Amino acid sequence: MQELFDILREFRDSRGWRKYHTPKNLSVSISIEAAELLELFQWTTSVEDEMRVLEERGKEVEEEVADILIYTLFLCDVAGIDPLVAVKRKMEKNERKYPKDRVYEF
Ligand SMILES: [Mg+2]
Repeated sequence: MQELFDILREFRDSRGWRKYHTPKNLSVSISIEAAELLELFQWTTSVEDEMRVLEERGKEVEEEVADILIYTLFLCDVAGIDPLVAVKRKMEKNERKYPKDRVYEF
């Protein structure tokens, strides 16, 4: 994780982009990249269609997932959030909110 942060900071800072990385700008960017991911599945009407997108456009899906993660990590960086701690804490909260012995139907 530290190596990843080093790569991201070097990329950002060597281009003078740190000043643009405000919490709002990064949150907007995460949302835009999530929409780009969603766009790849636009007009699919079945799980089979969705799986075909993964087969035929998997590289694009991977790139949009990477964009989301990159902006998320940039936001973690400026907000002082440790992403591993944040995920662990939230999963502990989810464990309490959704006990495993309960039946869930969506
Ligand atoms: Mg993108």
